[in-house]
Order: sequence, then C-alpha cells, then structure tokens
Amino acid sequence: TPILSVSDLKKTFPDGTRALKGVSIDVMPGEFLVMIGSSGAGKSTFLRCTNHLFKPTSGKIVFEGKDISAVKGRALRDARKHLGMIFQGYNLVKRLTTLENVLLGRLGYMSSITGALGIYSREDRLRAVDLLERVGLGEQRFKRADQLSGGQQQRVGIARAIAQQARLILADEPIASLDPKASDTVMSYLHQVSREEGIACIVNLHQVDYAKKYADRIVGLKDGEIAFLGSPEDVTDEV
Ligand code: ADP
Ligand code: ADP
Repeated sequence: TPILSVSDLKKTFPDGTRALKGVSIDVMPGEFLVMIGSSGAGKSTFLRCTNHLFKPTSGKIVFEGKDISAVKGRALRDARKHLGMIFQGYNLVKRLTTLENVLLGRLGYMSSITGALGIYSREDRLRAVDLLERVGLGEQRFKRADQLSGGQQQRVGIARAIAQQARLILADEPIASLDPKASDTVMSYLHQVSREEGIACIVNLHQVDYAKKYADRIVGLKDGEIAFLGSPEDVTDEV
C-alpha cells in the first residue's frame, strides 16, 4: 500500500491562479520520486499542500493510511511527525552547531527550539553524530551551521529529517542554489539514505539530468497537471 496517496488535488490561489488542476499520485514506501517541470508548473505548491503549508482547494491526501486533507491542531502535528521537509534555503538555525541542528529534528518539524537542547539524551547525541557521519559531516559537528557551505548545510537538512524519523521526505528544489558538484553530492546522499532507511522521497527539481540519474519514477508537471508519469528511461527531452 502507498505511504502517500494524493487524489485529484486542486489549488486555486485567492488571485485566481490555478496552480494545481487535479493531480493524483501514489508514492510507495521507500520510493524515490522526482518531480520535474518548468518554473510555475506547480511543483512547490504540490509539496506545500501535501504538508499543509498551503490549504488545498479540494482533493484528498492520505498519508500512512490517514486522511490528512483537513486535519488541524494536534492531529496535524502528529501527521507531520513522519513528514520531513527540505528546502532550497536549507532552513537551519544558523547560530547553532551542526550537531544541534540535527538534534532539533527530534523535536519535530517546525517546533520552537530555543533552550530545548539540554533535553537530549546521550543516546540521541550519539545517534545524531552517526547521522552526520552518514552524510559525510562527522568532523563538522561542532561548527556553526552558517559556517558550512551550501551543500554541507543541505546534507545537515537530510540528517535532520532522518533524526525526525521521517517516513516521507518532501524536498523542494534542494539543489537549486548549489553548483553541479555539490548538487550531485547532495542528491547522492539523499538517495543513499532513502535506500538505507526505507524513507520515501518526493524531490522537486528542474534539472532532468539528476532526475534521470536518481529517480525510481519521474513525475512531469506542466501547468498544474501531470504531463508525464513513468520510469526515467521513458523520459523524453520535452518533459
Ligand atoms: P513551481 O514550484 O513548479 O515553480 P509553484 O508551485 O511555485 O511552481 O507555482 C505554481 C503557480 O502558482 C505559479 O503560477 C505561481 O506564480 C503560482 N503561485 C504560487 N504561489 C502563489 C501564491 N501564494 N499566490 C498566488 N499564486 C501563487
Ligand atoms: P520558488 O522559486 O521557490 O518557486 P517563487 O519565487 O516562485 O519561489 O515564490 C516565492 C514565494 O512567493 C512563495 O511563497 C510563493 O508561494 C509565493 N508566490 C509565488 N508566485 C506568487 C504569485 N503569483 N503571487 C503571490 N505569491 C506568489
């Protein structure tokens, strides 16, 4: 059974922009799905609706067997517990260390953080160090987040999502600000931890080449609709 099942998702913004016109996608546990499409196709809106940063106009979103289309408050927090988010801008807490940023994942998505670091057990800390090592950043653990390169910051974001025990990672243009070498490193680590931990991913990209290299399946979005859904081998260049 799918970990995420989205049916007929529509999003019309107050100004009348129809960003999603009825998108349906099932994602299987552990699947690495890449969503491609030009700027304005609706990729970001899809991810934001899926984790409730945006309210969908209509449609159904079932995550881990629960309909989360209209949940609020505590039920929404529970649903988000296993939903990791990775952003183009990294969204780390700049003045905290790399290790502390990973530990924040334990508090859950978008929690308030100040002063809460003392609560972590030795076990949590060891686990966080292990996760940093798995994204190649063990040696950087006491560095402040804002002293890392963009690619390194994004790898901290990956470690944080695993610390959060995400079962599905939604990554919105995670490599859009990175050079080709850092981009490939980030994609490679994300793909690797997805495989090792069995975490499903939906990754928004505008680069077809990375999609072909890493995706189990590719979704091509165009003007708020699915224009392509299939394996990387079947992608033609016009998608
Ligand atoms: P992508 O991520 O594929 O670049 P987006 O999901 O960001 O596409 O945008 C899809 C469409 O929705 C675009 O036309 C964009 O201008 C529009 N859009 C996005 N956010 C808003 C908003 N808050 N209000 C109005 N229109 C929006
Ligand atoms: P990205 O490159 O991440 O897609 P955008 O520049 O498209 O970023 O959008 C940045 C922010 O502005 C987002 O929060 C998006 O929802 C909002 N936005 C995008 N297009 C519009 C629009 N036409 N009207 C209002 N807000 C928009």
